[in-house]
Amino acid sequence: MSGSPRTRVIRVDPDRPDPSALDEAAEILTRKGLVAFATETVYGLGAIATEPDAVARIFAAKGRPAINPLIVHVAGIDQARVCVSGWPDEASVLASRFWPGPLTMVLPRSTLIPDVVTAGRSTVGLRCPAEKVALGLIERCGRPLAAPSANRSNRISPTRAEHVLADLDGRVDLILDSGPTALGLESTVLDLSGASPHLLRPGPIAIAEIEAALGGSRVTALSAGAAAERPLSPGQLAIHYAPRTPAYRIDSTGELAGLPASLDPLALILVGPAEAPDTDRARACFVLESPATASRRLYDVLHHCDAMQPAGIVVVMPPDRPEWLAVRDRLIRATRPLADRGTTDDLFK
Ligand code: AMP
Ligand code: MG
Repeated sequence: MSGSPRTRVIRVDPDRPDPSALDEAAEILTRKGLVAFATETVYGLGAIATEPDAVARIFAAKGRPAINPLIVHVAGIDQARVCVSGWPDEASVLASRFWPGPLTMVLPRSTLIPDVVTAGRSTVGLRCPAEKVALGLIERCGRPLAAPSANRSNRISPTRAEHVLADLDGRVDLILDSGPTALGLESTVLDLSGASPHLLRPGPIAIAEIEAALGGSRVTALSAGAAAERPLSPGQLAIHYAPRTPAYRIDSTGELAGLPASLDPLALILVGPAEAPDTDRARACFVLESPATASRRLYDVLHHCDAMQPAGIVVVMPPDRPEWLAVRDRLIRATRPLADRGTTDDLFK
């Protein structure tokens, strides 16, 4: 935005954040400004959730469609309970087990939460983040913070302050830079407003862990493809979290030999326990072997590949197994099957 003042960046120690930096950030938020800060998942773009004007600025800064609800970040269970009109036993159990941490629970909202936050829905997504910077900010504001990922809509989520600055410079008042995020992938989103728990977005907390905490209750879930066809939640849309470079997925390194020359020079990302192929076609090749490494580094690697401006990004997918669910979900939304090339290139423009 021409004429906008540039965004300020303040470095803070993630383990012992400087109280004066947090005070300053809280003051900006209280004046209805926007502050980007790290959570353990990705960087969030925060505004005070109970101030509709401030929340509207998040949508403007991100270019986020008004139909996409925001996650509300709370300092703990007490603050969560005032945001909802009902707090079922399952919420109690899951909050005690997984908060602070990367689990978002969707529950019927109270009148405290304005329409703009929930995109007019009768439910609100709530989570208590684990990071000291995030918790310190919420506590200082004394009110919950609405905070989606701090990126332009449909772009790759930021796991470093540099990613936020590259995408949102001039559109946010302050970035608190506390280094790379610990987990690197967005929270697990679980809908508890229906008859039984339903997974809306896979994430760092696995379905099996939720089922175990709930004493064996079944959590329902749709595959990424099925969810994209009938999304219950905007995070399930097919094109989401996507790089700007045309990005394609294949299932094995064996398919590399058949890649068209039009994708050269390409950036290659091998996800899962695959051996790096012997190819001179890749300008860069990244190997993300385990689910934990892939979660932590995937967005950073995608940002990096995009910045290199190759003709194409090609991802070799990890196996379709439960431990890879969240990473596969994001990759499916960030890429197209190679077979669809040509018919869908325009979607990336
Ligand atoms: P982001 O904040 O960018 O990580 O995206 C948050 C995602 O959480 C949204 O895109 C939705 O998919 C989901 N979400 C948040 N609140 C709700 C809600 N009230 N109902 C359903 N899904 C929600
Ligand atoms: Mg997002």
